[in-house]
Amino acid sequence: MLKKFILAILLIGLLSACEKIAENNTVFEEQMFVMGTIVNVTLYGEEEKKSQKVFHNLLKDFKYMQAAWNPWKKGSLGRINSLLPHGEDFSIGPALKDIIVTSAELSEQSEGLFNPAIGQLIKLWQFNKDELPAGPPPSEAQIKNWLTQQASMTDLEVGELSLKTNNPAVILDFGAFAKGYAVDKAIEYLLLAGVENAIINAGGDLRAIGSKNGKPWVIGIRDPRADGVIAVAEIQGDESVFTSGDYERFYDYQGKRYHHILDPRTGYPAMETTSVTVLHKKAAVADAAATALFVAGPNDWTRIARKMGVDKVMLIDKQGKIYLTPEMQKRIRLQNEEKRDISVVSLDK
Ligand code: AMP
Ligand code: MG
Repeated sequence: MLKKFILAILLIGLLSACEKIAENNTVFEEQMFVMGTIVNVTLYGEEEKKSQKVFHNLLKDFKYMQAAWNPWKKGSLGRINSLLPHGEDFSIGPALKDIIVTSAELSEQSEGLFNPAIGQLIKLWQFNKDELPAGPPPSEAQIKNWLTQQASMTDLEVGELSLKTNNPAVILDFGAFAKGYAVDKAIEYLLLAGVENAIINAGGDLRAIGSKNGKPWVIGIRDPRADGVIAVAEIQGDESVFTSGDYERFYDYQGKRYHHILDPRTGYPAMETTSVTVLHKKAAVADAAATALFVAGPNDWTRIARKMGVDKVMLIDKQGKIYLTPEMQKRIRLQNEEKRDISVVSLDK
């Protein structure tokens, strides 16, 4: 009897030792090419079998979201975009309703600078295509005409499970926010699956939960005008880092550069900023805010950041000047700090 008891204790001891090793040291990583970018998922302290199952389910989910949310191809959002111009009520599913309602709220907070209703303008600039456009840019007359129609998320009438607009210029494109929203959904799934330490990195934009073996995750933020990183951030717990940059998608036409982040007030690419990085718990908010603050530029970003409820921001303007909130300054280490023009700006009025 005593022997059995001792054996049981030994076994329990052994088991917990194995668990400990698994908890602390195992790392499983998977790379997926989805949503136009490479998505890296890293899980810490999980068993191999469970990790493989999680990767399989995540890939399926990402592929589903990619197809459903493409504004320009056949799929749930493509269908919505083909029905909107008719001005009649039509049915929508709960998943897209949530995206529409969430993004409409963020759009309102951003004073319409983040505006997913500008699909038509994105098409005019040819940024609707998978491949990079060659130009030419739209004519001044085309831009002027687009501006008169004032397409905005407030033009949408969202019913229980229906949608309608009386503005035929409204075409939805969630390119500035879908990646963040998808990463949030993926993290929700990981948490439900019992994963506590993980990072989902979608082409440099990411959300992490937990830690890397008790240590923070160290994240590089790309230099918008040079190879390599301009800063590193340490994150721990549940947090996202999203960057919008003018270097991500652009084309040169007759000596001028046109990039993909458009200012809904002018109809042209926002020219005062080169990159904006936002740290925030939710990836969807960080993603929408990075785009909105990019458009807001060095003069207006503090007001929009306050309205959108984000306090960890770095904005780099076209002269290379770096604007930081005090909260962001505490969280990042800038490379070659002494050589840079840095302005720390509090969001308090
Ligand atoms: P991001 O890299 O998150 O800033 O998103 C840029 C993408 O969002 C572009 O490729 C467009 O599809 C879309 N977009 C561009 N300008 C805006 C804007 N002002 N509001 C909402 N979406 C935009
Ligand atoms: Mg964005």
